[in-house]
Amino acid sequence: MSTSTSGPIHVMGAGLSGLAASIILAKAGKEVHVHDIRKDSGARFDGDFQGLENWSSNRDFIDELRDWGINPDEFKSTPFHEIDVIHPDDEISTAWGPKVAFRVVERGTAPHTIDQGLKRQALEAGVNIHYNSRVKPEDCTIIATGPKGTSAVAYGEVFKTSFPNHVSFHLNDKLAPGAYAYLIVIDGIGLICTCLWRKQSKSERFLNETIAWYERHYPELDIEPIKRVGGKGDFTINDRYKESGRYYVGEAGGLQDFMWGFGMRYAVTSGVLAAQDILGGEDYDKAVRKQLLPFVKTSVANRFLMNRIGDRSFKRIARMWMKDQKKRGDGLPFIERIFRGSIWRNLVYSSFGKLMLKRETTKDGRKIRRMPFRKDLKRDRWDPSPDAIAIGKRWERVRRSGGGTSFSEDSDNSSIPEEE
Ligand SMILES: Cc1cc2nc3c(=O)[nH]c(=O)nc-3n(C[C@H](O)[C@H](O)[C@H](O)COP(=O)(O)OP(=O)(O)OC[C@H]3O[C@@H](n4cnc5c(N)ncnc54)[C@H](O)[C@@H]3O)c2cc1C
Repeated sequence: MSTSTSGPIHVMGAGLSGLAASIILAKAGKEVHVHDIRKDSGARFDGDFQGLENWSSNRDFIDELRDWGINPDEFKSTPFHEIDVIHPDDEISTAWGPKVAFRVVERGTAPHTIDQGLKRQALEAGVNIHYNSRVKPEDCTIIATGPKGTSAVAYGEVFKTSFPNHVSFHLNDKLAPGAYAYLIVIDGIGLICTCLWRKQSKSERFLNETIAWYERHYPELDIEPIKRVGGKGDFTINDRYKESGRYYVGEAGGLQDFMWGFGMRYAVTSGVLAAQDILGGEDYDKAVRKQLLPFVKTSVANRFLMNRIGDRSFKRIARMWMKDQKKRGDGLPFIERIFRGSIWRNLVYSSFGKLMLKRETTKDGRKIRRMPFRKDLKRDRWDPSPDAIAIGKRWERVRRSGGGTSFSEDSDNSSIPEEE
């Protein structure tokens, strides 16, 4: 195998970033081989819903995909203009905007998932995909292996429901330490998920308590559990994004949203930028610094601030959001402003934000700064409610009769086949 860009291109990782890069390269006539350690694209996720954000740029992401030659009609995506915003004191408001704020896509191995939609396009373009394949990074030109370390985790339960299509975004430091929880329902399938930005023991109690909260506050939400899903996020700032002739894309290059973990758009965009450099376009490192890193740095500043607040400030943020929406008749500009940066957020990044990141040298000698998985706080230690205990028992019964779990206590390695 070779890392040169004139012969066949080897890509490590057949997830969003690796497949996006491969589609562009193969369509331009390159011989492309993608290697994935798992049995299929999306196998890391197993059917959870994720939000494809549409607020970090004025350009609709779906139009951007079409411009790059990636067909968004190959996967199912459900657009949303409206969500419930749940304040930490349980008040529920509605955020609304005339523009599509985000689209919900499914991750996994089912035909309608974004992973399989990109995989089909890669195969049609002539990409050779090798699953259950272990290769060395030094033999690959593009490294697209997703998260390596753990900066945060998310746990969710997927269930059948008769509830209509819906998304709730839930700011609550008890249920989701340092982060947020959410409910997504698409066409009879629901997901309740909680994100933990502080490392916990017995993490399942956060998910059980979150589900109990939803059952209490959305009495029409019927839940018939199917499986539990989740995953980890890896948030790093890299000294270089192209090193020794290799391109680090997606989460393998730390390209993630440090505040809330909306990493899919970064993943696809960085894969495209790497392919464009290989095809003679702008240097990848420069393009990342210009197009993606400013947003990443803003998200570091936001994360620094998020780490210092709790429910009282979450309440203030939710109130400000709703006030801004009332003034403009549009809830989206508030979120756009948070994500797109400002002079003072740049200042927060350079004065404090980057100092919270831990300097590391990776196994292949690259210098990065990683957001550590923070320790739990005293306020994270509480006893589960009787409702949450009952939900844990309900899940246990489903699990014993075959309900799958794709992620537990910060590892999804079970989806990687054992070495022969
Ligand atoms: C629970 C959860 C919820 C999320 N929700 C959202 C959301 O709502 N919105 C959003 O935008 N983002 C979300 N994200 C983040 C988003 O999923 C990631 O940022 C995105 O998938 C990163 O894409 P990637 O191409 O870097 O990695 P992936 O899409 O994960 O692909 C990496 C691929 O590399 C393969 N691989 C790993 N190691 C090797 C190896 N050694 N050799 C070969 N192949 C290897 C893996 O099997 C995988 O197929 C969420 C993440 C999690 C965990």
